[in-house]
Amino acid sequence: MAGGPEVSKGGYKRILGVLFHLTRLVNEGVPFPELLQAVARSASDLTGADSCSIMLLDDTKQELLSKASSGLTPEEEERITFRVGEGVAGWVAANNASARIEDVSVDPRFKAVRGQALKIGAILSVPLQTREGVIGVITVTSSRTGAFGTDHLELMEYLGGAIVKDIENARLYRLSITDSLTRAFNRQYLYQRLPDELDRCRRFGDPLSVVLFDVDHFKQFNDTWGHAAGDFVLKELARRVNLTVREIDGLVRYGGEEFLLLLPKTGREGAAELAERVRRAVESASFRWGEQSLQVTVSLGVAALGGAQDSDEQLLRRADEALYAAKQAGRNRVVIAPAA
Ligand code: GH3
Ligand code: MG
Ligand code: MG
Repeated sequence: MAGGPEVSKGGYKRILGVLFHLTRLVNEGVPFPELLQAVARSASDLTGADSCSIMLLDDTKQELLSKASSGLTPEEEERITFRVGEGVAGWVAANNASARIEDVSVDPRFKAVRGQALKIGAILSVPLQTREGVIGVITVTSSRTGAFGTDHLELMEYLGGAIVKDIENARLYRLSITDSLTRAFNRQYLYQRLPDELDRCRRFGDPLSVVLFDVDHFKQFNDTWGHAAGDFVLKELARRVNLTVREIDGLVRYGGEEFLLLLPKTGREGAAELAERVRRAVESASFRWGEQSLQVTVSLGVAALGGAQDSDEQLLRRADEALYAAKQAGRNRVVIAPAA
């Protein structure tokens, strides 16, 4: 085949295998970051690349942010951000066209990433195109100049075209279940997921708990420091709490300054311990706001799923009552609801 190193016939067979694998992941509903990770690995495998990075445009459509990679350390991946128009990936996004560079040392579009140890000789970069325009870029690199031929480019374009819809759907879905201020899940997500979680726990005989918590005297906080400071604290609070819990524990913004932790496979005691950890983490955190160092506390109500008669509404109601009791008892404390 023309245009550079040969892609074996097996290459085309392999892309079918890759697409089959990725489609299965999509159908299984694997989390978005995992899906992107699998795409990055597939792109590297298909092209024999040393590294791959998948960048998606941010909300302003000005910046490409790395979302998944293969062959890069997490620190290296973190550093890869390009403005649209900057570097090879930025050029690809700006022009909605692929770039195949056999030797980066003679291509003016190439811009080295500071602090990156990876040796780069050749680059292949393709846009992720939807009808509305570019949403991201997939880039592979090799230390060898001339490593990528036009056939590799075709494979990458094919992969990008096949996966872009799933990436966009996953992104839109994630957006629809995410609270824009705190990046926690929103309430719709809770109502969608809670019945499923309940079913699953019942089926496997696993425990399930929720922790409902609310910022103490937040009205007064806003009155003192302003609404913008309040927003900032809510955002930071969510980030800290997310660091305190497991990946599968969902943090939901339940109301304005009220959050819920959905804790699958966690019983009453485990949930109470976690609630206490969250309480202490919030109490000891200080949030830098300009010159100020702001602090808040939270009150928490814990409830565990009871027997077969128990429902999601009752579970949430018990958590709410426990939270109310925590407020009554003086705030900045955990109250555990009695068993159902
Ligand atoms: P308590 O300890 O009883 O919870 O007192 P509180 O003042 O926090 O309770 P209350 O429910 O009376 O007031 C909640 C306040 O939280 C009202 C509102 O000003 C503030 N709040 C709710 N959502 C947001 C938000 O998104 N941003 C900001 N900055 N404040 C919010
Ligand atoms: Mg409050
Ligand atoms: Mg409240």
